[in-house]
Amino acid sequence: MGIKIHSNESTKKLIKALIAKNREPHSIVITGERGQGKKALAGYIAASLLCEKQSGEPCGECKSCRMIDAGVHPDFIRLSANENGNYKVDVIREAVSDAVIKPNESRFKVYLIPDLDRSVNTSTQVQNILLKLIEEPPEHCVIILTARTKEIFLETVLSRVLCLNTVFCSDDEVREYLSNINADGEYTDEQIDNAVRFSCGNIGRSVEFLEDEAVGKAVEIAKGCADAVCKGSEYDFLKAVFSADGKKALFRRVIELLREAVRDACVLRLGLDATIGCMPDESARLSQKLSIDTCRQIYEQLGDYIVRVDSNANLVLTMNSFASVFFK
Ligand SMILES: [Zn+2]
Repeated sequence: MGIKIHSNESTKKLIKALIAKNREPHSIVITGERGQGKKALAGYIAASLLCEKQSGEPCGECKSCRMIDAGVHPDFIRLSANENGNYKVDVIREAVSDAVIKPNESRFKVYLIPDLDRSVNTSTQVQNILLKLIEEPPEHCVIILTARTKEIFLETVLSRVLCLNTVFCSDDEVREYLSNINADGEYTDEQIDNAVRFSCGNIGRSVEFLEDEAVGKAVEIAKGCADAVCKGSEYDFLKAVFSADGKKALFRRVIELLREAVRDACVLRLGLDATIGCMPDESARLSQKLSIDTCRQIYEQLGDYIVRVDSNANLVLTMNSFASVFFK
């Protein structure tokens, strides 16, 4: 796990200030979209707390920082869920009893419990077990929980933790990150440009774009579909859809992208500057073509189509009827 993170400047300042005043938070909740760097932020905070230089941010050079970077620091303990994302209550109980024991190397012992929202079966139990630790933490203990949204947390937990949210990166920050991982020139400038555009400020998305060819293909198909809608050509639309070639995961991704584009078209129609999708040109053109009500209807219908694909409905039939969402 790296200890350098992008963006999140205000959080970095806050952590630094708290450490400078010896007011280190003992329980932290980090929320943010998938791929937006929740675990990276947790690693950064752990490194800030454990760094030998105690300057409020990781120096990156001391033994502690290097151990965190290599994922081997004995006082940065990351708990794991089972393959379904659920945490076993025994694992959490064990961590709670371990937490009272003094750290091995550093001033603190930091426990990271990532993706608690995925622990559908045991999320509440986990929080109840942790509650005592959150209410009366030992001096040396810090717990960091992450989840996509705050909603999954108990009020009693939320009222006692420092809540942080990961923020979107600028295009330049995403580009800088990608240049670092592309030191050996594996990807072309054009691929990097496209990945930056696709990221919408989410580094995880940009990496997914580069590493998974299907993502680029999905963007191409979704753009073809949006273009056909703008031109009013049902034939071109079907041609684009069927170039997904019966691949379910690819088709699902196309629907998701179109859903984002339609959402953005609606937002643009409302005169708001809050687009999130990776097809800004297509969204702008769709916003000229579709009314707010139509956008809303299409957005909902696209959600239904995702459910249909997930429930293993016949793919060819689903693809065939898909045009009816846009062409009445
Ligand atoms: Zn250090």
